[in-house]
Amino acid sequence: MSDQTYSFFQSVEKSFDKAAKFTKWDQGLLEQIKACNSVYRMRFPVKMDDGRIEVIEAYRVQHSQHKSPCKGGIRFSDEVNQDEVMALAALMTYKCAIVNVPFGGGKGGIKINPHKYSAYELEKITRRYTAELVKKNFIGPGIDVPAPDYGTGEREMAWIVDTYASLKPGEIDAAGCVTGKPISQGGVRGRKGATGLGVFFGVREVCNMPDIMKKLGLTIGIEGKTVVVQGLGNVGFHSAKYFREAGAKVVAIAEYNGAIYNANGLNEEECFEYKKKNGSLLGFPGATDIPNSNDALELECDILIPAALENVINKNNADRVKAKMIGEAANGPLTPEADDVFNAKGILVIPDMYLNAGGVTVSYFEWLKNLSHVRYGRMEKRFDENQNEKIIRQIESLTGKAISDAERHQIVHGADEVDLVQSGLEETMITATQEIMEIWKANPEIPDMRTAAYVNAINKVATSYSELGIFP
Ligand code: NAD
Repeated sequence: MSDQTYSFFQSVEKSFDKAAKFTKWDQGLLEQIKACNSVYRMRFPVKMDDGRIEVIEAYRVQHSQHKSPCKGGIRFSDEVNQDEVMALAALMTYKCAIVNVPFGGGKGGIKINPHKYSAYELEKITRRYTAELVKKNFIGPGIDVPAPDYGTGEREMAWIVDTYASLKPGEIDAAGCVTGKPISQGGVRGRKGATGLGVFFGVREVCNMPDIMKKLGLTIGIEGKTVVVQGLGNVGFHSAKYFREAGAKVVAIAEYNGAIYNANGLNEEECFEYKKKNGSLLGFPGATDIPNSNDALELECDILIPAALENVINKNNADRVKAKMIGEAANGPLTPEADDVFNAKGILVIPDMYLNAGGVTVSYFEWLKNLSHVRYGRMEKRFDENQNEKIIRQIESLTGKAISDAERHQIVHGADEVDLVQSGLEETMITATQEIMEIWKANPEIPDMRTAAYVNAINKVATSYSELGIFP
């Protein structure tokens, strides 16, 4: 969502102001919501493998404490700067509010290129960063809970929880100080594919709205819809998988070095394997090559899912996009100029701010699991299975008919952790989509779904502040 003439944080403020006009909140309260409450900029020395001491620049920003803890990823990147971390923290406040995850927004960053460091050096940097956060009370299950972002993953989260726990001996909820952990360290099953699955649930809910589909000239439901996916990484792969499994046709997949098209639909798993072996999607059996990958964005399709980079649809190509709906799986794939083009043409843009919130939603489930100290499903799975088995036996004895083993398994099956996580995510995305659409329908002046999503976020955060009676 960056705009050439504004810093990233200013452009978030601009989107906020655009939406705030459609709310009734006092200007002072709106100013408080926009502001970043706490910015911690730190520098610390780390001894590298060759004996050199390097001074590391890092940040943690807590944008809002209207709910505790704050929540947001930590990125390792050369590009990290204070403005970017502030903007991303603000977006986390709004994202959490929209999907009803009871956290304030936060974000962290370490200004390093992780590829230039050994695993041991990265471990020292991560552990020292965590220790700095502990010293200033900027991390904890009830204070601020980081997660992975660019350049970080399960490994870094394991280092963080281990450092935190060792500095806080006896803190029973220590595992809840960070999410995105490996399962063995208190992580939750179903997190890896969560963002792609959330994208699917959000788009599916829109496709089930008869009035919206009528306006777009589309039939109701996912089945038979044609989908183009940009980026076959974590989010793109899982989005493609869930669309295909629901009966949509993924007619094109684009990677940075080429795209492929097949009107009969592509299987993301086969494409992924092919790319792994050949380094590119080009030449995939049965598909047509699109050497200039960006051309795939302009293909005829019902749903376009940009799941790679920011600003890929902009004033230069927006006019040529033929999709009827765009589901923003990536962060900021459309520029404001592209938004204007799609509004004018009646193309529906489902905004990133909530559509890709599957990761933070499942992080919330991980945090709840850590606080409850029990795996989801452990208490009820066997009980449910025994009950279901009894019901089936009764029905079989009353009807004199037996069901097949496969049918029996499907009905008897009690919920595992991953089933419950996915079901919680489904509920979250359906509710969030409906809430945003209700706001949009109630005020036809609101220009687009993105603004309606912001209005929803502002209303929730403002309600939370105003019900406190005084400002904290
Ligand atoms: P990823 O690195 O796993 O995947 C990105 C993919 O895009 C890679 O396969 C890469 O080769 C491809 N790509 C790069 N440039 C491209 C181009 N020009 N054209 C086509 N493909 C290109 O990253 P990810 O985790 O899937 O994240 C993708 C986007 O989704 C990012 O914007 C990220 O911020 C956002 N996002 C991710 C998550 C998550 O849980 N992973 C959550 C919210 C938002």
